[in-house]
Amino acid sequence: MILQNLSKRAESLDTIDALSHLVDDFCLPADCIYLDGNSLGPLPLSAKQRAREVVELQWGDDLITSWNKHAWISLPQRVGAKIAPLLGSLPEQVIACDSISVNLSKVLCAALNIQQHSSTQRNVVISQQDNFPTDLYMVQGLSELVGPQRCSLISVPENKILSAIEEYADTAAVLMLTHVNFRSGRIHDMQAITKAAHAKGILVIWDLAHSAGVLDLELDKCEVDFAVGCTYKYLNGGPGAPAFIYAAKRHWDDIKQPLSGWMGHKKPFDFAHDYSVADGMTRFLVGTPPVVSMSILDAALDTFDGISTKQIRAKSVSLTQFFQDAFNALIEDKRFTLITPNEHALRGSQLAFSHPQAYAICQALIAHKVIADFRAPDILRIGFSPLFLTHKQLLDAVLRLKEVLDTEQYLLAEFQTKQAVT
Ligand SMILES: *Cc1c(COP(=O)(O)O)cnc(C)c1O
Repeated sequence: MILQNLSKRAESLDTIDALSHLVDDFCLPADCIYLDGNSLGPLPLSAKQRAREVVELQWGDDLITSWNKHAWISLPQRVGAKIAPLLGSLPEQVIACDSISVNLSKVLCAALNIQQHSSTQRNVVISQQDNFPTDLYMVQGLSELVGPQRCSLISVPENKILSAIEEYADTAAVLMLTHVNFRSGRIHDMQAITKAAHAKGILVIWDLAHSAGVLDLELDKCEVDFAVGCTYKYLNGGPGAPAFIYAAKRHWDDIKQPLSGWMGHKKPFDFAHDYSVADGMTRFLVGTPPVVSMSILDAALDTFDGISTKQIRAKSVSLTQFFQDAFNALIEDKRFTLITPNEHALRGSQLAFSHPQAYAICQALIAHKVIADFRAPDILRIGFSPLFLTHKQLLDAVLRLKEVLDTEQYLLAEFQTKQAVT
């Protein structure tokens, strides 16, 4: 009876799903239920076609003329402009380049530099203790280079951000946060936190790794200063696809970033001796763009054409709630603890459960063609990528999970051994 009801509900939710037509735009192996679009988005058909085109025709046939003929040179700006509407940004405020880590170092330097020109007191970068490690590492590396008197990291628990803004009101230069926590899925209130930081003269950098492509972001409206994000997660840009930077136009003239490579030069093909910074977001570019990867990303973004971030968020909420209900109704193992908040407003597009056997359960699920992921120390993380998942698939995933648990298959040695990438 329970199962029948869930099954009926899945069917009716799939019927009213405004994005259901997009399922056919992705290449996924038959019978695979992919709940890991938050780590590596699947292959869009458009990206597959472009991959062949860029390699065989553009590189193969047109060779170096493609920089002009196929406008390879303007890919960073064009791709940025395609990402911008997903962030609630003017098109010219976003550029695609490098990785989140490298981009963070550029925007951190830019923000610190702006602050140190207006007040010499501000040297503190406030962040959250459980941030994605690379974000903290980048601040630590910068601090080693320029010294703690110019850059000093203070990381506080996630629920102490507002009090840290008060406490460091006079010394904080930058508040650097990850919008959706990669482990728990907890979401920060971007508008309220940005406003509170600005009230104390602190600039704000948001990491949107688990936000871009699934949330109804409004960076311009929230008056965000800088943001970074990656495109291989919910944007389905492919493994190692370039990341992006957002910088509010009002800061452009004051931005200085130290990676002054030739692609960020005003006239790279003048081959001048001295650096002269380019206008607008181009100043964030460093070296030659990864053309193959960025072309694939460019095509992958076409999947978002004609759909709104509100529709995407609505589907994400619906999928997440349905999975949670099916899980609660069918899974009896009491060792699972949901560490993601219950309220939709407080969580992104994932559910994270801690369980002492999380790693082995995840491996056993993969053997049943349900791909989720494991995050140390004991988290089974389930991502709900709204463009290609159906509610029916989620019910099937919960049923396969139930089978793995009921039969205790996860105890098999093959599922207990950790692999290099988890
Ligand atoms: C995935 C992720 C990154 C990845 O950074 P790269 O430098 O692009 O590898 C950074 N921050 C967060 C919050 C992430 O989830």
